[in-house]
Amino acid sequence: MSALPSISPEGRKTYDVVVVGAGFAGMYMLYRLRGAGFSVRVYEQGGGVGGTWYWNRYPGARCDVESMQYSYSFSEELQREWDWSERYAPQPEILKYANHVADRFNLRRDIQFNTRVDRAVFDETANTWTVTTSDGNTMIASFVVLATGCLSNARRPDIKGLESFKGPVYHTGNWPHEVVDFTGLRVGVIGTGSSGIQSVPVIAGQARHLTVFQRTANFSIPARNAPLTDQERQAFRQNYPQIRRFAREVARNGIYTDLPDRGALDDGDERRRAKYEQRWQKGGLTFMYAYNDLALSKAANDTAADFVRGKIAEIVKDPETARLLQPNSHPIGTKRICVDTDYFATFNRDNVALVDIKANPIEEILPNGLRTTAKTYELDALVLATGFDAMTGSVAKIDIRGRNGLTLNRKWAEGPKTYLGLMSTGFPNLFIITGPGSPSVLSNMIVSIEQHVDWIADCLAFMHAKGLSLMEAEKDAEDKWVAHVNEVAHATLYPQANSWYMGANIPGKPRIFMPYIGGVGTYRQICNEIAAKGYEGFAMAANERERAVAVIS
Ligand code: NAP
Repeated sequence: MSALPSISPEGRKTYDVVVVGAGFAGMYMLYRLRGAGFSVRVYEQGGGVGGTWYWNRYPGARCDVESMQYSYSFSEELQREWDWSERYAPQPEILKYANHVADRFNLRRDIQFNTRVDRAVFDETANTWTVTTSDGNTMIASFVVLATGCLSNARRPDIKGLESFKGPVYHTGNWPHEVVDFTGLRVGVIGTGSSGIQSVPVIAGQARHLTVFQRTANFSIPARNAPLTDQERQAFRQNYPQIRRFAREVARNGIYTDLPDRGALDDGDERRRAKYEQRWQKGGLTFMYAYNDLALSKAANDTAADFVRGKIAEIVKDPETARLLQPNSHPIGTKRICVDTDYFATFNRDNVALVDIKANPIEEILPNGLRTTAKTYELDALVLATGFDAMTGSVAKIDIRGRNGLTLNRKWAEGPKTYLGLMSTGFPNLFIITGPGSPSVLSNMIVSIEQHVDWIADCLAFMHAKGLSLMEAEKDAEDKWVAHVNEVAHATLYPQANSWYMGANIPGKPRIFMPYIGGVGTYRQICNEIAAKGYEGFAMAANERERAVAVIS
């Protein structure tokens, strides 16, 4: 182990670890590995750090987890010196924070920007990965860490005629770096997930006219965003030890909040309504924490869903528009719940119209508009808020070949299979941060990122101390974990929604519930226990020959 790369006999740079991606996961991975004395190279396809926050620059983009919690906890100094300006920081501020972290910890010197990792091939004789990047270079790594993010592969929908549109077409997940001004334009937004719901009110404020094309109505809770005062920041900082501990060990989703002590039907109508009202007024994702059975019981869930549908009817003046905006296709919370600023009220504006493309699907995009089965709409600009090939999409873009030339895409053809979301059998020395099979997108991502990075860094230090160079998930352990992830998911209402958690937004993608829903606290405990038992379920060896002997005997 050395902090500097060596050169292989073929003249290739050889690193202890290659990290793919310089978002929040890749940056912290680099920090930890460098601190442990490993040689590390990070490749990032974007021109800067920040991952999803580098690409998602659409109007209104902000985090749906409070910034005092959606921030690194590994450095006390960082935690004290960075002042978030609002309860939910806007995207430019989160990106500024990511850049600040990169500068403060001098991370850039080990990151190569504007460079994609195209290929990673495992060499079973040398126990190393041969990694090829988009600039044509090839290097060797003992370990590869995929810090590629869960929502980083923006998906353009296959809509007939899209290429023929004469005006600008933007995707929320891959927004231009220049300012986009919709002033005076007739704009169409397709998609009403979190990105659509955040961008619609802002675009409506600029555009001459905005048409929102909705296929599925979504539940959304007001953010109640506001500037953070010094006092509020101080209160957080004083309580950070408890807040961070709670987020890591107690909360199911890695967010500090007051936890419910009962089910929705344990309260009478009036009390229940008051509780929902209080959560609605407080705002944000923790609305779903009003009761402890909202994700488990349809009858309980219906009470929360009815409450939100009632709010939509109160806010939206036109009854037909209100009816269309009321979600009815899935239990509340089983698709990622949205957090908005004035989304529903935006439909009271004279320059905004809602079009139901479930009833009247889009037939074709035309050079100057869009035609549904019912009508033609003239448009000057199009915004695709159509989401991502989530969780597996970014990994799938890399040609990853493990033992016997098996590609990860082939292995995952019927759905991703991992042990703990961290490793996949047949792909030794390849780690995934917040991979499918871990809490990932069902949690405050930074809490989950820090947990995975710490686990991987500790694991590599353990291996180094023991003279081990090979690690692989055992098939039996992986099979059991995959079964457990499914079992836990199917005990909830989540699989009832056609969500991107299930891969349902991508035609042809296998329908498998991808994240682990058992909660971040439980999951952390499982990971820690496995590590304490000498990484149970992972085969470790000093070299390939030792592994072969172990397998034969
Ligand atoms: P999304 O939740 O997948 O929403 C995509 C929207 O586009 C849906 O309304 C979908 O309709 C529609 N759509 C997709 N393909 C379509 C087509 N061919 N024709 C018509 N409509 C189509 O994507 P997203 O809004 O980008 O959000 C993805 C995730 O990113 C969120 O769930 C969240 O986890 C994260 N995110 C977070 C924030 C935040 O922190 N505040 C902000 C943005 C995103 P259907 O529902 O009918 O498929």
